[in-house]
Amino acid sequence: MKKILHRAWAEIDLSALAHNITSVRAVLPEQTQLMAVVKANAYGHGDEAICRKLSELGVHWFAVSNLEEALSVRRVCPDAEIFILGYTPPECAPEMARHNIIQGVISEEYAAQLQQYADAPVRCHIKLDTGMGRIGFQGKTADTYVQQLLPLFEMSRLKIEGLYTHFAAADSPDEEDVLYTAEQEKRILDVYDRLKELGYALPHVHCMNSAASVCKPNPRCTLARIGIVMYGLAPNYLVPVPVDIKPVMTFKSVISQVKTVSEGDCISYGRTYTAPGARRIATVTAGYADGYARLLSGKGRALVHGVACPIVGRVCMDQMMLDVTDVTEPVVSGDEVTLFGDCEITADWLASLYGTIGYEIICGISKRVPRLVVEE
Ligand SMILES: *Cc1c(COP(=O)(O)O)cnc(C)c1O
Repeated sequence: MKKILHRAWAEIDLSALAHNITSVRAVLPEQTQLMAVVKANAYGHGDEAICRKLSELGVHWFAVSNLEEALSVRRVCPDAEIFILGYTPPECAPEMARHNIIQGVISEEYAAQLQQYADAPVRCHIKLDTGMGRIGFQGKTADTYVQQLLPLFEMSRLKIEGLYTHFAAADSPDEEDVLYTAEQEKRILDVYDRLKELGYALPHVHCMNSAASVCKPNPRCTLARIGIVMYGLAPNYLVPVPVDIKPVMTFKSVISQVKTVSEGDCISYGRTYTAPGARRIATVTAGYADGYARLLSGKGRALVHGVACPIVGRVCMDQMMLDVTDVTEPVVSGDEVTLFGDCEITADWLASLYGTIGYEIICGISKRVPRLVVEE
């Protein structure tokens, strides 16, 4: 048995990551390269280990949300293409150019600011807002977009290499959502084609996230921005993912103490749980400061010797209590507890218990939780 030296930790299974990459690549069109979305510390998994492994797997494109993340990927992947999806202060243009980072350009105003601050050409992809309502050039017809984009091609310090947009509801099988996504896709491809007719043939066009990539890959996209499925979770846990994926993160902790309580005994803050009879109660050394949501109090379960034991009472900052009465094997202090991951208790299931999404569960695992890389 491996000796447990941590109180709470997240195991990061790089063979699961490799498995998921293989599964996604199998459905991507031949012309479409995988762009690994590693923003937010690789969705909480630890960007260094994830990017190193992805490089080994031949992934060449990486997407992040800001310059700090871009530079963190650059340290691990000196030759990769690194793309910033969101806003970077335009004053950082020289740093982007120096580190060969590609920036998303969200408006004419932003383009002008980049042009002003850059001391060398900055590589860019232009962001269209085709229906997400978040960032990007807005328009209705291809021509209204193109009229706004043409001035950008005159800016000497912008090296425009691509066009992209983001889908609002690609994870939904609802008929109206499917039509909405198709309209978003049509808009960007029309703009791309119109620019080409005008002599601006861009090397890249991309719009697909995980959901679109695995459900409706479009061979016209040169890149597919793959986030959540690479980490082994579904874009929408109500909809089965049509490719085989495995969770990369498993969040674990240990039992510090086990006791028997009697009928009427209360557990944790606020006395929300009162034992209905004699129960075996185990204290676990993880809590909401580790990113395990307090909203899971009285709702979540965790695995002890393979049995899904209910959380009793409120989740505390650094600890929580489980009812381990149904575990037939003896439960003792030092035993390992699996809070979620590659087992029957998934991040998606926990998310469903309190109205969030698996993305938030994995991104929420806090900084004090060490990430332990395993490769089975
Ligand atoms: C986060 C993000 C993605 C990845 O989305 P997944 O659903 O995790 O695949 C793709 N594109 C943009 C613009 C994003 O912000």
